[in-house]
Amino acid sequence: MYLPAVTQLTELFHGFFLHFLLFLANVSQWKCMLTVTKIAHLHGNCGISRTLLLELSEQQKEFQLLARKFAREEIVPAAAMYDRTGEYPFPVIKKAWELGLVNGHIPEEYGGMGLSIFDTCLITEELAFGCTGIQTAIEANSLGQMPVIIAGTDEQKKKYLGRMVEEPLMCAYCVTEPGAGSDVAGLKTKAVKMGDEYVVNGQKMWITNGGKADWYFLLARTNPDPKCPAGKAFTGFIVEADTPGIQIGRKEMNMGQRCSDTRGIVFEDVRIPKENVLLTEGAGFKIAMGAFDKTRPPVAAGATGLAQRALEEATNYALERKTFGKLIAEHQAVSSCWRDGHEGGAGSHGYQRSAWEVDQGRRNTYYASIAKAYAGDIANQVASDAVQVFGGNGFNSEYPVEKLMRDAKIYQIYEGTAQIQRLIVAREHLGRYKK
Ligand SMILES: Cc1cc2nc3c(=O)[nH]c(=O)nc-3n(C[C@H](O)[C@H](O)[C@H](O)COP(=O)(O)OP(=O)(O)OC[C@H]3O[C@@H](n4cnc5c(N)ncnc54)[C@H](O)[C@@H]3O)c2cc1C
Repeated sequence: MYLPAVTQLTELFHGFFLHFLLFLANVSQWKCMLTVTKIAHLHGNCGISRTLLLELSEQQKEFQLLARKFAREEIVPAAAMYDRTGEYPFPVIKKAWELGLVNGHIPEEYGGMGLSIFDTCLITEELAFGCTGIQTAIEANSLGQMPVIIAGTDEQKKKYLGRMVEEPLMCAYCVTEPGAGSDVAGLKTKAVKMGDEYVVNGQKMWITNGGKADWYFLLARTNPDPKCPAGKAFTGFIVEADTPGIQIGRKEMNMGQRCSDTRGIVFEDVRIPKENVLLTEGAGFKIAMGAFDKTRPPVAAGATGLAQRALEEATNYALERKTFGKLIAEHQAVSSCWRDGHEGGAGSHGYQRSAWEVDQGRRNTYYASIAKAYAGDIANQVASDAVQVFGGNGFNSEYPVEKLMRDAKIYQIYEGTAQIQRLIVAREHLGRYKK
């Protein structure tokens, strides 16, 4: 009796705690906004703070509008077909790549646009409005590239980021295994050094872009001693997808985001040159986890885009459909859905704050987890409410909202589950107080 009660209380505490922290994060953001407003006013100097907190720069507005137009004209009309067939949306991705809506964060010295995380989040939110399956396929490139961006040598960056600017190629982040997802330190894939190479054996699971990637970021155990701390036991590698010994599994048929390509991958005596080690042997765990600080804000932005779409669909429907002689929007029980819908906007505050923090060069782990957990929960709530507003039609695939509800679920699972985000938030919060 005692233990389950404690668990329930812990859950309750985490739920309350997260919302409370989000509230604080927003309050402090607004305070910060006022401060920055004053500073910007006094110094007549804008910079990124002002672009975040007051208004977007002209360039940010242009990207946002471009992505919005692309989402409405190219993604929305194609989304249902890709969802139905599960076909990989490469033609859409290629067009987005041609417009500069993919890989925006690749630094300028390697041929990219060098956009900030905040800027790429603005684009992501818009693309996600169109279809989060397509947006996730695009976003998986950022996840695969981020370890290289944060830890790669100049040579590695030129070679692996450079080619993604030249051609519309995909890459992937290969960490999760059938037996280890949340518990990354439990990975079993091994890399053994033999001369100038590492030989890798193991199995990965749930790899987005797994069957489409040109190269992978791979995390493998290089220190076999079970007592070796995670921070020293794993190594990050860049692996060419056509290396002999790599066997790509079948495409998984998932509940939502069905056109995104998710697969298991087996590594059997795969030989990786030592030049493809990121940073140094043993540094992989920190690199793999550090990437999330820069990729969770865009995941939260994606969930926010989905919530905005669900709200828009439900609102339009409620302003057309009548029951009992009046628009369903006018029934009080329906109008209560708008409150949750507008909390989707709070999702954007969360991702903006977390993106802004990391763009300032500050550790944003706390904000990134708050943003991801909150936006994921809100997307699920708003998508479910949208189905409710549509009534029976909401349950049918002729209407867009059942897809949104299926697509939303993954935001509480990938890149760290909702529960893991709550643990991180609690850990980071307590860490600030511990001596
Ligand atoms: C569609 C899709 C795409 C993905 N893409 C990628 C990718 O590109 N690359 C990649 O490496 N991985 C990817 N993943 C893997 C994803 O990150 C993991 O599925 C996720 O981290 C959860 O791990 P798991 O599935 O092993 O669940 P588990 O870790 O087994 O968790 C099961 C449940 O237990 C809970 N739980 C676990 N530990 C704790 C704890 N300590 N406290 C409280 N609750 C806990 C979890 O929250 C969850 O509810 C993807 C997954 C999916 C489904």
